[in-house]
Amino acid sequence: MLTSIVGINWGDEGKGRMVDLLAESQDIIVRYQGGNNAGHTVINDKGKFVLNILPSGILREDKVNVIGNGMVVNIEHLCGEVAKLREGGISISPANLKISDKAVVCCPFDVMQDCLEEDRLADRKFGSTRRGIAPIYADKYMKKAIRMGDILHPDYLRSRLETIVEWKNLTIVGSYGAKPYTVEELLDWFKKFGEPLKDYIVDTGYYLNHALDEGKKVMLEAQLGALRDIDFGIYPYTTSSNTITAYGPVGAGIPNRKVENAIGVMKAYSTCVGEGPFTAEMFGVEAETLRKAGGEYGAATGRPRRVGGFDVVASRYGCMVQATDEIALTKLDILDFMEEIPVCVAYDVNGERVDEFPSGEALNIAKPIIEYLPGWNCSTANCRKYEDLPERAREYIEYIEKAVGCNIKYISVGAERDAIIIK
Ligand code: GDP
Repeated sequence: MLTSIVGINWGDEGKGRMVDLLAESQDIIVRYQGGNNAGHTVINDKGKFVLNILPSGILREDKVNVIGNGMVVNIEHLCGEVAKLREGGISISPANLKISDKAVVCCPFDVMQDCLEEDRLADRKFGSTRRGIAPIYADKYMKKAIRMGDILHPDYLRSRLETIVEWKNLTIVGSYGAKPYTVEELLDWFKKFGEPLKDYIVDTGYYLNHALDEGKKVMLEAQLGALRDIDFGIYPYTTSSNTITAYGPVGAGIPNRKVENAIGVMKAYSTCVGEGPFTAEMFGVEAETLRKAGGEYGAATGRPRRVGGFDVVASRYGCMVQATDEIALTKLDILDFMEEIPVCVAYDVNGERVDEFPSGEALNIAKPIIEYLPGWNCSTANCRKYEDLPERAREYIEYIEKAVGCNIKYISVGAERDAIIIK
C-alpha cells in the first residue's frame, strides 16, 4: 500500500505533525524531495524536534525511514541532525534509516553560491533559505553533482570532484569574486561527514519495491506545499523541485508504483514564508494577532511568516494538483479567538471575479475577495470527537470541504500527537 502525505498550501501546513501521527500504521516513511530547507516540527512524548532532512517517521523507532533519490542531502547538516536526535534519546542506525545511493549531495560551494547570489540580489532577493537548494538542483540537472553512492567509491569521488570543483569555481570566483574551493578541502569534508553515513547508503528503489511486494505499508512524505512546486506553484517563488503527489514515486525510487491514497495537509488559515504573491495576506494588528496565536515563525529559519485567511482559490487548486483523496485540516484551534473568520472566497483580477488559481502576472495583481464566517469563540483544544466541536467550527469545516471539493478526514486541534479528531 502506497500512501502520500502532501501539502496543499505554501508549506508549513503541519505535514511533519501529520506524518508523525499517521506513521503509526505504516512500515516505511520516505522523504522524496527537497533538503535541509525544510523544517518540520514534531512534538511528542519525548519532546520537541525539528526535522530538516530526516523523514518525520524517525521519531518512531520501529519504522524504517528513507531519504529518497529526489532529495538533496547536505551531509554535514544530516550528521548534525542525527547527533541532535540521538541526544534527545532517539536511536538511529542503518536498520531504521536508509539513504538512497542516487540522492545528490548538497556541497559547501552550493550553499556559498546561494548566499552570494542572495547578497548580490539584495532587496530584489527571492527569499532563498540560503541552504544551497537551488544551486544543487541546478547542478543535478547539469549532471554535475555528487551522488550519495559516490561516497562509497573514493577514487571515483575524487575524479568527480576534480571535474565539478573546477567547473564550480568558474562561477564562485569568476562571477562573484569569492575564494575558490579546492578538491582537497572537499575530500576532507566528505571524509568527515560522508564516512559516518556509509552504512546507511543503499539502493532504496529495490529496497522499497521488495517491501511493497511483501505487502509493507509505505508512506511518502513531501516537503513544502503544492504552491511551492517548481512547475505548478508560484514560480519563481517556488522551491527547486516538485513537491506534488505525482512526483512522490519518482523521488522515492519507485516510479513503477502508483500512490493509492493521497492525504493533503491543509491549514485552517493561510501562511507563507518569504517573498512572492500571497493574495489572502492580512496586515497590521489583525495579522500580528493571528501570527502570534499561531506561532507563525519559520521552523528552519525563524523568519516571521506572512499570514492570511483561508484561501479557497489556492486551496482548491492545491487539492487538484495534489490529487488528494482526503484532507487533514490543521491548526483549527488557532482560530478559536476569532469573532469572525476571514475567508478569501475568490480573486479579483482587473475587476473580474476569478475562481481558478492564476499564474504569473495575473496572480501578482490579484486582489482578495473576502467574506467573513462566524467564529466559535471558545477553545477546541480538548475536543477529540467531531461532535465535541462547537457547531460553528463544524460549519467552518463543512464550508471548507465543500469549497475545495474534498473530504476532511482529520482535524488537528493542537501540536501534540493526540490532539486530533478523526471524522
Ligand atoms: P510542516 O513543515 O508542514 O511540518 O509544518 P511546520 O512544522 O513548519 O509548522 C507547523 C507548526 O504547527 C509546528 O510547530 C507544529 O507543532 C504546529 N502544529 C501542527 N498542527 C497543529 C495544530 O493543529 N494546532 C496547533 N496549535 N499547532 C499545530
